Parts: sequence; structure tokens; C-alpha cells
Amino acid sequence: MSRFIDARYQTLTPYTPGEQPQKQKFIKLNTNESPYPPSPAVRAALTGEEIDALRLYSDPEARALCEAITAHYGLPPAQVLPSNGSDEILAFAFLAFCGEKGVAFPAVSYGFYPVFAELFSVKARAVPLREDFTLDADDYLTPGENVVIANPNAPTGLALPLSDIEKILKAHPDDVVLIDEAYVDFGAESAVKLLPRYENLLIVQTFSKSRALAGQRVGFALANEGLINDLKNIKYSFNPYNMDRLAILAGAAAMRDEAYFESCRRKIIATRDKTADVLREAGFQLTDSRANFLFVRYPGVSGAALQQALREKGLLVRRFEQESIQDWLRVSVGSKEEMEAFTAAVIQSVKECQA
Ligand code: PMP
Repeated sequence: MSRFIDARYQTLTPYTPGEQPQKQKFIKLNTNESPYPPSPAVRAALTGEEIDALRLYSDPEARALCEAITAHYGLPPAQVLPSNGSDEILAFAFLAFCGEKGVAFPAVSYGFYPVFAELFSVKARAVPLREDFTLDADDYLTPGENVVIANPNAPTGLALPLSDIEKILKAHPDDVVLIDEAYVDFGAESAVKLLPRYENLLIVQTFSKSRALAGQRVGFALANEGLINDLKNIKYSFNPYNMDRLAILAGAAAMRDEAYFESCRRKIIATRDKTADVLREAGFQLTDSRANFLFVRYPGVSGAALQQALREKGLLVRRFEQESIQDWLRVSVGSKEEMEAFTAAVIQSVKECQA
């Protein structure tokens, strides 16, 4: 830290991204990327001509992408805001809505929520999950604070029924309820159908998982026009050209290729469920993940030791230091072959850790 840093940021604890190795070849199951490449339509869209066109600024409204999202969800463009990854929308939302009221979110959830709260001096209430990691909607019914919930939650993978989300929305007529649907395409029910009925509902999604564009940084918000305009005001006060030309094109092409999207997500769901069955059979404990990752531990075995043993075998998985989950591993669902390699390696690693 330099002596120039503003006093209010001296104690900031930033988000720690998952490891992105640049050289050593790992089976990489640590950041919930897709094991499949983006749609072939993305490759076709990123032509040499479009690279030449990079001399021009991008469309600040990202209309081509907005239209593709609009067509997919049957919503008007005024209810859609594309972004440079969904983290950016989360940041805009914390800035736009949470400063005065504060925000409640689960104590075990996406690690960026407390980081944004700290960065933007937002009062945060971290609500404990139940012992089995399920979320009790009744813990989020106090009006006067905003609510942020990932559905499915990360890193537990557990999904919340729409009836619980509606209960929370109803309890907060004057607050924003943000549902982070980063993993929704792998088995939870989207809250999109609630949008016409709830003015306070803000949905955030990403292209990083089910549309295989993590490296391209594309996300978006869906909400009523008023909330979208509030987010736009923040965006235009910060970085009007937040999406580059290639991201807009890639995102639009990926969104239009429904068949490819369907086939990839189905394969990932099938691989997830098959892997979970094999691991349960081998004595591992798993949550009922509805996401593109498994949350797993082996009773009596240290998570840190297991993670290290896997690493030595060339497999990267994610682990978090929070006490209630430190022995659990979050394992992204890779290809069928990668998951077979993972299963064999983790069973072997447990034996080594027990020896
Ligand atoms: N929300 C959740 C719950 C996530 O796990 C992630 C991925 N790290 C994000 C949002 C952000 O995704 P991105 O910025 O890649 O769209």
C-alpha cells in the first residue's frame, strides 16, 4: 500500500479470484467455466472486419446484444441492461440502491457481495444459513433493507423455490430484491416470470457459465424500466462504453444460438448428476447442487489436505476459508472425461489423506 491511498480504502479486503494458471496444464475445475467452447456462431461473428472496426467506439447501448436478450426472454429492451460481466451490474446495484438502506445477503454466498458492501460503504447484514446450508426465507422479511440472493446459491449450489422469492418480494415493497441467477440455467427456476408483478425485482444473469463466455465478460440485468434506468444512470456516470464491440457481438451470437445453449447445459447437468451419484456411492457428502458445480466433502478429511492432494495430481478445485465450509470443495462440472478423472483422483486422494 502506498502512503497515497485514501484512508477509507486502507482496510479494504478485495475479492480473491480463483486461480487462472497461464502455464502449467491443469484439469481446471475451480472457477465454474464451461468445459465447452462458445457457440460456433460466436467464432463466425468475430470477423477480421469487426477487428478493423475496433477503431470505433462500441455502441454504448449495446443494442445488438440487448435485442438478442430481449428476444430470448420476451421482454422489451427497456427492461434489459447488458454489462461487462455480471459483477459490474452487481456493483451498479450496490451503488444505486444500497447506500442508505443497507443490504442483507446469506453469510455463505458469493464472495463479492461483502466486498462491494465494504467498497461502497454499504451496511451489510450477513444472514447465517441453516446447518444444512438451506436458506430460510423468513430471515429476509424485514422491510427497510435491500436483499441480495444468489439462486442457485454459490458455493452450495442449493436452489430456492420461486414461492420463497415471492415471499421476500412481498415483504419488501419499498426495497430492491436482487436475485443473482448466475447459475440458474443448470436447474433452478428463474424469477423472470415474476417481473411483471414486482416493481422491486432485479434479476442478474451472466454469459460466463451456461453460454461459455467467461473470458469475454458479458452479463445483464432484467428488471422494470425504472430500476434499469437507475442502473443506466450509474453506468453513464462511470463508463458509458462499458461493453466492447467484440463482447456485444459475441454475446448476441451466443444468445441467439438456442440449440447449442440447450445441448451444452443438458450435457453439463447430466455429467453433474452422474458424478454426484458416483461420489455419494463412494462415501462423499454432497449438497443437491442445481448449478454447474458440485459442493462436496469427505467426512473426517480436511478440505485443505484434499485440495492439495488434488492439485498435486493436476486438478484445480476451489475451497473457501470460512469456518462452516472450510472442509468443503467446490468442483466445477467439467467434461465427462474430466469428471471421470476427477472422481478417480478424489477417491485416491481421500485414501492418501486418511493414511
Ligand atoms: N454471481 C455469482 C453468484 C457468481 O458465482 C459469479 C461468478 N464468479 C458472478 C456473479 C459473476 O460472474 P461474471 O462477472 O463472470 O458475469
